[in-house]
Amino acid sequence: MSAPSVAKRVGVFGGAFDPPHLGHVALAQTALKQLQLDCLHVVPTGQAWHKDRPLTAAADRVAMARLAFAGLAPVLVDEREIMRTGASYTVDTLQELAREYPQGELFLILGQDQARVLSTWQRWSDILRLATICVASRPDSIAASQLLDPKVGPQAKSVQLEMPRLDVSATEIRRLLAQHCSVAPLVAEPVARYIETHHLYQTA
Ligand code: ATP
Repeated sequence: MSAPSVAKRVGVFGGAFDPPHLGHVALAQTALKQLQLDCLHVVPTGQAWHKDRPLTAAADRVAMARLAFAGLAPVLVDEREIMRTGASYTVDTLQELAREYPQGELFLILGQDQARVLSTWQRWSDILRLATICVASRPDSIAASQLLDPKVGPQAKSVQLEMPRLDVSATEIRRLLAQHCSVAPLVAEPVARYIETHHLYQTA
């Protein structure tokens, strides 16, 4: 995809986004503001190796991500991982982006659950070389390096993204939808409408 090559501070936020929810949007907003990003690539995963359930069709997850992040101007929903054949890893995405933004600095945005298991990611030491690791946590929480997987923490350039904890997860949203409960306060309204129109998440 073509991206503005002049961008200097480039965020990368990957996830299944199955579905994208207000916790994801809050994290993106926090990252854009706190890190003063010129752009943020939101990267829906292909069939991620660490998820043990089949994901919703990529086209639906991309469409929902576009709706969820539509209000955030410098966000690009980036389909590269979905387009890749075979296993797709964050490290490959970071390598590609480093080539696309030769003047740029990369910031990898993570929630705490992912930050704690970073050493299980493919070629994690290359990830540390390519990007600053930015982890969401409450303002009163511990230092960013301690939020990370202990194997990774001492070697990483890391930043703590200060945001209040939002108790929302895609797992909980799927569970509620399978029980035909409303998820209105947990996802953006256009995402809720998309889910309803396309009859997604009807079964557990
Ligand atoms: P699931 O419940 O299916 O595991 P999820 O809600 O964790 O999904 P993902 O798409 O797997 O969503 O997450 C993408 C990224 O967003 C991860 O880095 C994750 O840690 C982060 N994230 C998810 N929920 C929140 C939240 N409520 N607040 C901050 N970050 C979050």
